[in-house]
Amino acid sequence: MPPDAGSGDTKRIMAQIIDGNRIAAKVIEEVAGKSGNFLGEHGRVPGLAVILVGEDPASAVYVRMKIRDCARCGIESFSYTLPERTTTGELLDLVGALNRDDRVDGLLVQLPLPATIDTRSVLDAIDPAKDVDGFHPANVGRLVRGDKHVLLPCTPSGVVRLLDDSGVEPRGMRAVVVGRSDLVGKPTALLLLNRHATVTICHSRTRDLPQVCRTADILVAAVGKPFLIQEDWVREGVVIIDIGINSIGPDDAPRFLLEDPKRVADFERKGYTLVGDVSPAAAVKAGLITPVPGGVGPMTRALLMENTLKAAEWRKNPPGVPK
Ligand code: NDP
Repeated sequence: MPPDAGSGDTKRIMAQIIDGNRIAAKVIEEVAGKSGNFLGEHGRVPGLAVILVGEDPASAVYVRMKIRDCARCGIESFSYTLPERTTTGELLDLVGALNRDDRVDGLLVQLPLPATIDTRSVLDAIDPAKDVDGFHPANVGRLVRGDKHVLLPCTPSGVVRLLDDSGVEPRGMRAVVVGRSDLVGKPTALLLLNRHATVTICHSRTRDLPQVCRTADILVAAVGKPFLIQEDWVREGVVIIDIGINSIGPDDAPRFLLEDPKRVADFERKGYTLVGDVSPAAAVKAGLITPVPGGVGPMTRALLMENTLKAAEWRKNPPGVPK
């Protein structure tokens, strides 16, 4: 645990919180309304197929939440749970069948897949028009080009929506994205670049990371290391988007977490609590910050629903094709 992780006191936090739960609820409400319209126009609701392979408990929880979100949005869900021993070929067969199934507008394979499966070839096999995770190379290419009609990955587009809703205009701002994964860091950096921010991408080999972070007007942390971003890494008033989700137990928790009734309830109920990549001492200095939990996470879920609706609408009326 970094040395200053525990020095933040929740009472000292002055940063304005970007309430992901509130903004996500608005998105969900809009999607539910539009799903109803889709039913009226096309005689069926949008459909999302979710494939889970193996028994990873966290993945199973995520899949359950996605199914529940579908129910809230009036989207039909098709859930497939396959055993750990499933082969790449068997998974590709199911993906192929769901690509051909007209009731299925969105199709996602929950990651991570077991090590025995070739993840890349599975993601590449998903019909780009149904690729609601936005991981297919065709959609990644469209994101790089800055195309208007593209299924964007949910977490990165959630980040931009949180900024928009908070009145933060990235144009001309210095954005630093810590983390360069294909699924989170890289696409987030590209979206900010497409919105005319001046973007720096950092990773585990970046020299003098604190110094680079200090240049940020917008700092995005997408690493997966609890409280990595320290107090002296950030400037006063910076906008911080904390994407990291880290599970910590009571033995690793700094004092202020052990004094927070919500966290204590987490420890008692689940034995852990979820924290981000940004230390409370750094958070204090931000002008705006997303909390963990309740920031980027709910937006990721909401935008999956929005992507499913979008995929359904675009499959019926391809964008750019005159009716
Ligand atoms: P990955 O492990 O794929 O990528 C982590 C990135 O962080 C890598 O680019 C890595 O660098 C970099 N990194 C690791 N250690 C350091 C360090 N000490 N200093 C600087 N950079 C470092 O993770 P993901 O991108 O998939 O996820 C990142 C975090 O976001 C995780 O906590 C994950 O749980 C969370 N997440 C949250 C979501 C949400 O909805 N809120 C959705 C998806 C993910 P390198 O490339 O050099 O190895």
